[in-house]
Amino acid sequence: VSDWETVIGLEVHAQLATASKLFCACSTSYGATPNQNVCPVCLGLPGSLPVLNRRAVELAVRAALALECQVHEKSVFARKNYFYPDLPKGYQISQYDQPLATRGRLVVEGSDAEVVVGITRVHMEEDAGKNVHGVGGDSLVDLNRAGTPLVEIVSEPDLRSAADAAAYMKTLRDLLLFIGVNDGNLEEGSLRCDANVSVRRAGDTAFGTRCEVKNVNSFRFVQRAIEIEAARQIALLEAGKAVEQETRGFDAEAGRTYSLRSKEEAHDYRYFPEPDLPPLVVPESLVRAAGDETAELPAAVRARWVAELGLSREAAQTLTQHPGIARFFEAAAARSGDPVKAANWVQTEVLRDASWHGFDASFSVSPEQVGALIELVERGEISGKQAKEVFAAMRGSEASPVEIVKQRGLAVVSDESTLRPICERLVAEHPAQVAQVRAGKKGVLGFFVGRVMKETGGAANPKLVSEMLERLIAESEGS
Ligand SMILES: [Zn+2]
Repeated sequence: VSDWETVIGLEVHAQLATASKLFCACSTSYGATPNQNVCPVCLGLPGSLPVLNRRAVELAVRAALALECQVHEKSVFARKNYFYPDLPKGYQISQYDQPLATRGRLVVEGSDAEVVVGITRVHMEEDAGKNVHGVGGDSLVDLNRAGTPLVEIVSEPDLRSAADAAAYMKTLRDLLLFIGVNDGNLEEGSLRCDANVSVRRAGDTAFGTRCEVKNVNSFRFVQRAIEIEAARQIALLEAGKAVEQETRGFDAEAGRTYSLRSKEEAHDYRYFPEPDLPPLVVPESLVRAAGDETAELPAAVRARWVAELGLSREAAQTLTQHPGIARFFEAAAARSGDPVKAANWVQTEVLRDASWHGFDASFSVSPEQVGALIELVERGEISGKQAKEVFAAMRGSEASPVEIVKQRGLAVVSDESTLRPICERLVAEHPAQVAQVRAGKKGVLGFFVGRVMKETGGAANPKLVSEMLERLIAESEGS
C-alpha cells in the first residue's frame, strides 16, 4: 500500500445557524413534525418568489472570512436543475461560476504534521428535503429541510490521508461552531461531507480518476469511507483495471462503498443564473461587520493559552472542544488567578458531568465556584483532599466553597500544637526513614507527610507539615 498515495478533497455542507430558511420565513428548527415548516416558496408552488435571508448572508461571509477567503462583492445565484422527489421546484438555488468567496485556507493538525488545506470556494445554497423510506411500505417526503440555508465549503485536493481528512472535518466543525455559524450537530445533519478520493503511484504528479463518496456525516465515517474507497481503487489498479469516475455511497455496516451513479458533469445540471433573484451584492460594510462580530478562532485561542497561560497543548485542545467549555475555563482561570490549576480542575472534575449540544453547554458548577475553590487551596485554607470534597458538595448547588467549608467544618489544620506531636512521634518511630532523609533522599519526606495526612484525615496543611518534619529531622540529628 505504501506504493500508493491517496489524494483527497472534501466538500462540506454546513447549515447556517439562522432561525428561518434561505428564501422564506419558515422555521429551520430541528425535529418538527414532517412538513410542518413549509410554505409556498419552499414547496416550490407556481408564482411564489424567493426573498434572500440577510442573516444567512452575514453568517456565510463570517465563515468565508474565518477560512481566509476573498469575499466577492458580487456573486450570482444559479439554478442547478435536477429531478428528485425531495426537490419540489425541480432545481436547487445554488451558486455556480460566481460564488460568494474563493481562495482561502484552513490549517489542520494532521496525524504527522500540520497540513495547510486550500479552500477553493465557499458558496451559498439551499438544502433539499428528505425522503423517508419504508414507512408502511411507502416512501414519504418531508420538506422541512427544503430551503434550509447552507454554505458549501470546497477544499483543494490537498489531503493525503484519511486520518487527516477526518481532522480537517473536525477542525472545520470546531471553527464554524466557535464563530456561531453552524451548531456542529452532525447527528442532526447540520454538517455533511462528500469526499473526492483518488489514488496514484507514489511519485506520480498527475491525479488518478476520482470517485465522490457522498453524504458522510461523522468524523469516524469520513476516515473509514476514505480508507475503504482508496483500498478499492488500489485493488482495481493493481489488478490492471481502471477506476470509473462515479458517485458512490458508503455503507458503514457492510464496510464498503457502492456505486450510486456515474459522475455527472456540471453541464448535466444546466446551470443558469436564477431569474428570480438579483445578483448578491455584499457591501464592504457587511464584510467588516461580519469580521468584527467573529469570535476568536479556536486555533488562535489554543495558541494564546499555551503562550500566555502556560497550558499544555493537550489541555488547550480539550478545553476548546466546545465554545461553552472555553468560556467556562477562561472565567474560572480569571477568578482563580491560576490558569494551569483551573485547567486541571475543569478537565478532571468539571467536564465529568458537563454536557453540551449545539451552541449550548451546561455545567453542574459555576466558573466562579471553581475559581474560588482553587483560591482557597492556594491560600492553604483547605487541603487538596478537602477541595475534592467541597467540589462534590458544590455540584448542583449555588453554595460558594467558603460556605461549604464553614458548613462542614473543613478548614485545614495549620495548628502547630496539633501537628507537632504527630510529627515528633512519626520521626521517633521511623529511624530508618529519618536516616534516608538525612542522607539526602528528600523524596522520603513524602512518606512522613503522607502518614500525617492519613492520621489527620487529609486535613493537615501539607506545606506546614513538610516544613515541620524537615526541621524536626534536622534537630534530631545531634541527639
Ligand atoms: Zn417556506
